[in-house]
Amino acid sequence: MTQNFTGNFTQQEPLPEEAIEAAVAVMRHGRLHRYNLSDGEAGETALLEQEFAAYTGAKYCVAVASGGYALAAALRAAGAKAGDTVLTNAFTLAPVPGAIANAGCEPVFVEVTDALVMDLKDLQVKITSSGAKFLMLSHMRGHLVDMDALMQICNAADVKVIEDCAHTMGASWDGVPSGRHGVAGCYSTQTFKHLNSGEGGLLITDDADLAARAIMLSGSYMLFERNGAGPEKEVFDQIKLETPNCSGRMDNLRAAILRPQLRNLDAQCQAWNDRYKRVENGLRNATGIQVIERPEKEQYVMSSFQFLCPDLSNAQMIDVQKRTANRGVELKWFGADSPVGFTSRHDSWKYVAAQNLPETDRILAGLFDMRLPLTFTLEDCDLLATIIREEVGAVYQTG
Ligand SMILES: *Cc1c(COP(=O)(O)O)cnc(C)c1O
Repeated sequence: MTQNFTGNFTQQEPLPEEAIEAAVAVMRHGRLHRYNLSDGEAGETALLEQEFAAYTGAKYCVAVASGGYALAAALRAAGAKAGDTVLTNAFTLAPVPGAIANAGCEPVFVEVTDALVMDLKDLQVKITSSGAKFLMLSHMRGHLVDMDALMQICNAADVKVIEDCAHTMGASWDGVPSGRHGVAGCYSTQTFKHLNSGEGGLLITDDADLAARAIMLSGSYMLFERNGAGPEKEVFDQIKLETPNCSGRMDNLRAAILRPQLRNLDAQCQAWNDRYKRVENGLRNATGIQVIERPEKEQYVMSSFQFLCPDLSNAQMIDVQKRTANRGVELKWFGADSPVGFTSRHDSWKYVAAQNLPETDRILAGLFDMRLPLTFTLEDCDLLATIIREEVGAVYQTG
């Protein structure tokens, strides 16, 4: 008898009661704007900034409206000017090239490897050929590149690294938290990430000038002293009038629901990894399937699952996708000619000059991606692996 899966791939857990109570308290007092504070009150947004800075070990933190906003603000605050070239991963999500475009800059894509991380040889080639002084490094789907090797290449070439940690909140490389290697780390608190406020973003840095510029950009008017983890007032004297206000603040309602979630983040990360490992065990050594092996130095957090079917044709990939969908399993495929939902890729972004990325194209043509929300049980994960194994196996036989 074939078994079908009935879980919902886009269903999150409810917010913790503590978060709901904190949200209600903000709504009762009515001071939703982050700079609207009563006497002696720090405000939920400022407190979140302090707590996230402490969680990551960063000196400064700025809470903003989205992950994409944080990326664009970090790039501008780090000194990128309109027309500058910015290197980034050829395999990433649309808000990443979007943030580069938002800063008026031009993306140049770097190939990915079949471990789904930036290809460091191609990075070296592109640094030389483009002369770029910025890299927006996307830890796409939670896969961390060898950060020691990457930073060595970038430091040697004077390239500033901005980390896109939308999928690596809670993760680290050799004990150093993701987001703490480059000049700035940017996180998203959008519903499908590791903290959920619907929309939201966080930017961390140790650079006082970058932090001050990001705070001004986010739209702090002249109330920057009310930020929770910003630099000294004197740092703003230099830049406050020359930095435009591009409003993109976080509000107290979102911050209020994020703070209790942050306190529980490490336990949530463990729960995601338990699910990830269950699927991984179920798919390792299956016919036609290659799981992504993870380096020992990578302390990952996986809220989604990726695997490769390197021997299947495009028609077979589509067949697998249909067959698993018929059994209730939603796989995303990055090989389709036009993007569906979240599956856009470098050649979908027509506002960027077309670029030749044969390795990335080959890898994406064989890549499946699946969400793993925490509403799935470990037994659900076993069933997901069984269905995928059976359907890839069946299609593989017809090849
Ligand atoms: C979600 C995401 C972002 C930022 O998304 P927002 O919707 O702007 O918060 C950035 N990079 C990656 C890889 C993402 O998945």
